[in-house]
Amino acid sequence: MPNDLIAVDATTNPPTVHLYIQFVVDTYAGRLLPCFLSDGSPVQLAGLGVYNHIITEFKQKSHCLGFNIRLHLIQNNNTNTLDSNWLHWRYDTVPNPFELGPYPATPPAPQMRSELDAQGSVVYPQLIRPLIRFYIGDGESLNNDFRFRNLNNPYPIFNENAARNRIALNRATGYSQVIQGFEKYYAGRISFFSRRIRAGYLFTDGPGLLSVTFMHELGHVLGLEDRYIEGIDEATAADNILNYVGRPARSVPPLSRQYINSVLKGGASGPDPDPDYDPQNNLMSSRSYRLSTYQKGIISGALIENEFTTPYVKEDAVVLLSLNGAARRPPGSILPDKPGPNDPVGTCRMTETPYFPSAVEPAPGTGLDRVTFVRPDGTTGNHNAFFRTGPGSPLSLRYDGDTAVLAKLMKGLAPINGVDTWKKIFIQLRP
Ligand SMILES: [Zn+2]
Repeated sequence: MPNDLIAVDATTNPPTVHLYIQFVVDTYAGRLLPCFLSDGSPVQLAGLGVYNHIITEFKQKSHCLGFNIRLHLIQNNNTNTLDSNWLHWRYDTVPNPFELGPYPATPPAPQMRSELDAQGSVVYPQLIRPLIRFYIGDGESLNNDFRFRNLNNPYPIFNENAARNRIALNRATGYSQVIQGFEKYYAGRISFFSRRIRAGYLFTDGPGLLSVTFMHELGHVLGLEDRYIEGIDEATAADNILNYVGRPARSVPPLSRQYINSVLKGGASGPDPDPDYDPQNNLMSSRSYRLSTYQKGIISGALIENEFTTPYVKEDAVVLLSLNGAARRPPGSILPDKPGPNDPVGTCRMTETPYFPSAVEPAPGTGLDRVTFVRPDGTTGNHNAFFRTGPGSPLSLRYDGDTAVLAKLMKGLAPINGVDTWKKIFIQLRP
């Protein structure tokens, strides 16, 4: 089915994508939110500042995707006021961010905009699609019992200690207090966008740069699917309210061009439908602001994404990167930003990931899925990977204590080269 979240006007060059996105600051007005600026420096910003940071990146870099993307609810100037169209504070009467509650102040139904054509007839050139919401916060609201105050009543309903205790409780109870279906995201502070509920959450305290994360989530709004595999790496972060010491950092090795194309054509033979996809430089695999020709065709409506539910990513596979250091690219080969085709001065973000591209494929002989990584010279190696089902015991990644999780991890895993670095791994994600 076509992407019903966007409207594309192909008569402009480049084509124009119309979007109707509202941002909701999901904390009380006076609370500073921790996040990282695009240069990597940590800052504390109030909700309006976070919004401005995201929108600045969007304004400067969205052209890199090859479209003129219009946010119809975008703020025109950086005043210090809130507008019901583009930025809300979540009302304390809304029990969780993903219930409609008293929202929206703006209509969720498609809006027709009429114009007069050259002959004076009324025409409807653009269909403005339904409202999409992005919540901005630190994720505490994903608890069922959490309430917020709005801008006019900025009384802090919790303090930092309460938030810390909430995190401890969530970990102890396997995130049972978190809205069902979002435990994985909460646990990893993984920003997301859900097509089903037409809403996303941007964790200001999540891994990575928030503005870059938003651009990736925007890729989902545009109809594109993820092209990376879940990876867990060793954590080096200090323990504080934002990061869990000793817990893994989530990493996302890109999926290889061979694998993506084999999925698209349903096998190994035949011409590649997506030949110019670069796994090290793509919005959906490495969070550079690059798209393949095939992906641009999906956005423009000429092509349909393979499916709308994780067509490339096997959700039951988790790669344990720290167990095979060869899957990690040498540090010197990682290029944060550099010029590229049609971008001689390097204004568009271009990133090579710290990991070699991955592929999921049946192993010869057994026919069971395995995960490999592909080096630039074309040689491959095995990833250590867990499959939720497969040889050995089914694996649950629910976090229910370090010891229990380690016991689960040991099942079905043969440490490569006998290295016991697995002891450093504590899985926080759950299905
Ligand atoms: Zn994604």
